[in-house]
Amino acid sequence: MDAIRSLSRLATRRSIRCRRDLWFFVARTNGYIVILAVAAAVVQSWHTDIETIVTTGLGVGVIASLLTLPILWEFGSMYLDLWRSTRALRDLASKDQQTGLLNNRSFVTAVEERLAARRHVALLVGDLDRFKSINDRHGHLVGDEVIARVGETLRDIFDEIGVLGRMGGEEYSVMVECPFADVEIAHAHASALAEEMRRRIAAISVSTTTETFSPTISIGIAWSRSGSSFSDLYARADKALYIAKAAGRDRVVAEYESEAVDPEAILARRQDLFWRPAEAAAVVEDRPSIAWA
Ligand code: GH3
Ligand code: MG
Ligand code: MG
Repeated sequence: MDAIRSLSRLATRRSIRCRRDLWFFVARTNGYIVILAVAAAVVQSWHTDIETIVTTGLGVGVIASLLTLPILWEFGSMYLDLWRSTRALRDLASKDQQTGLLNNRSFVTAVEERLAARRHVALLVGDLDRFKSINDRHGHLVGDEVIARVGETLRDIFDEIGVLGRMGGEEYSVMVECPFADVEIAHAHASALAEEMRRRIAAISVSTTTETFSPTISIGIAWSRSGSSFSDLYARADKALYIAKAAGRDRVVAEYESEAVDPEAILARRQDLFWRPAEAAAVVEDRPSIAWA
């Protein structure tokens, strides 16, 4: 709201100044033309030699140009303000004010652009655990603080390597590109990032007058397939998130979707695997899902 108010104030002030500046501009320009005309007439009445006329003309021209500098300055600062206001408006329309992350609509657009360009991406969908009880126990202001601190932590981890969005409430999404041709490595890369996200959020310490606590998050991961739409990708990540919640929360569940990779091989290689849900196979249409510690 503060941003909207200050933007409106700026817009009102600017429009008043614009009108006033326009009149000044017209008056000053007319003034310069009159001065130049008078100067030329005076010079012509005194001297007839061309050299004096040219020198005087140039001199008056230079003085007139110097007099226009304040106008140029004024217009320059108006453009700067306009640019700042446009940027503020764009931020207002595309970002979530509480966290500074992209809002739902802008995040979806950003992912859809990547998918349309046939980029291979991973989508991490995270939802804070038992957030309602944080609100109930500590109040909404503390809940708001948790939401903002999680946003900060995400920016810290994914700055320059991911696109971040707040999908609504206490749900966050992260899109990371998979720069690896090897599907198995791409899966391990996104899983490691999601695990880092889970760990860093669990390390946030929130202090109230009565106690100190840490929020936790459950995360589901899905990878783009050829021709996948955002809603398809999101549905698969959300399904994995659902499994993470059902399995006890504060964990990452990766949707294991590539037919080309043998899930048993990955399971055998991962020493830190802590959970393989029996119910996952039922929920993720016969494809085994994997949870990473
Ligand atoms: P689960 O582990 O299953 O996700 O449980 P949960 O309690 O986190 O899930 P639920 O969806 O039941 O509750 C989410 C709550 O988040 C409900 C809503 O009041 C609260 N919430 C949503 N947005 C905000 C917000 O911006 N600020 C605060 N303080 N609370 C919010
Ligand atoms: Mg929740
Ligand atoms: Mg939720």
